[in-house]
Amino acid sequence: MSDDRRAFFRGLMRSAAEMTGPPPAPPEQEAPPAPPEDPDALTAAEVDRYSRQLVLPEWSERAQLAVRDAGVLVVGAGALGSPVATYLTGAGVGRVGVVDSDEVEVSNLPRQWLHFTPDVGVAKAESAAAKLRFLNPEALVEPYYARFNPAMLEGADLVVDCSDTFETRYEVNAACCAARIPLVEGGVLGLSGLVMAIRPGETACYRCAFPEPPPSAPSCAEAGVLGPAAGVIGSLQAAEALKLLAGLDGALLDAFLQVDLHDHTFLRVTTSRRADCPDCANL
Ligand SMILES: [Zn+2]
Repeated sequence: MSDDRRAFFRGLMRSAAEMTGPPPAPPEQEAPPAPPEDPDALTAAEVDRYSRQLVLPEWSERAQLAVRDAGVLVVGAGALGSPVATYLTGAGVGRVGVVDSDEVEVSNLPRQWLHFTPDVGVAKAESAAAKLRFLNPEALVEPYYARFNPAMLEGADLVVDCSDTFETRYEVNAACCAARIPLVEGGVLGLSGLVMAIRPGETACYRCAFPEPPPSAPSCAEAGVLGPAAGVIGSLQAAEALKLLAGLDGALLDAFLQVDLHDHTFLRVTTSRRADCPDCANL
């Protein structure tokens, strides 16, 4: 090829390069596949999120994994259910069911802090679930806009009863005994309340401690309740739930705690199983 023809072709190639832009970069090397997640270990994000409880001498990675693998049913999304569901979801409980058949009313707002003013009229279970998903997107939050029924215990490792009637409390206790699912009971009225942890078949159940409802128990609407009192009782219930899930010492078993914020009394009352308990005697 003559020098002129070579120059002509080099010119053509330069023009073509200018028209099509620079030659494509070599294909980027594909990132190596991520190692499969170890189901028996926490991810870096989990270690970060739960660092303030992981550092506790009472807590551990094993405790955190136990909580992550657990399903908890919270019965009631009101004054007790707000702190209970918030602390359990925040602490890393893997599945949180929230049961409530009511809608948010404006008179709920001073103490039921999972619900805000724009939620008035919304199902409490849905309103609570929306906030809990914001709090911890890793948790599977399941709202039940219905009254409690024993079929909801499917898959639950623990139940926290945050209902506000003796009728529901006895119903939840009987169902948890029949299914042998650990339960944390609680109640609040005025400035006082009660908390009790139960391992059915091993320790006293709610009906062992309280065979009959009190003859005249005023409702929350009649007697009133102060928001912080519900916050204290709900926080104690959440602490008991985490202790049972993580296998920590010191749960309120075969005992209940009576709390009175009038005079700051915390009274631990020992109780025991009853041979004639209709709910747990035959377990
Ligand atoms: Zn019993």
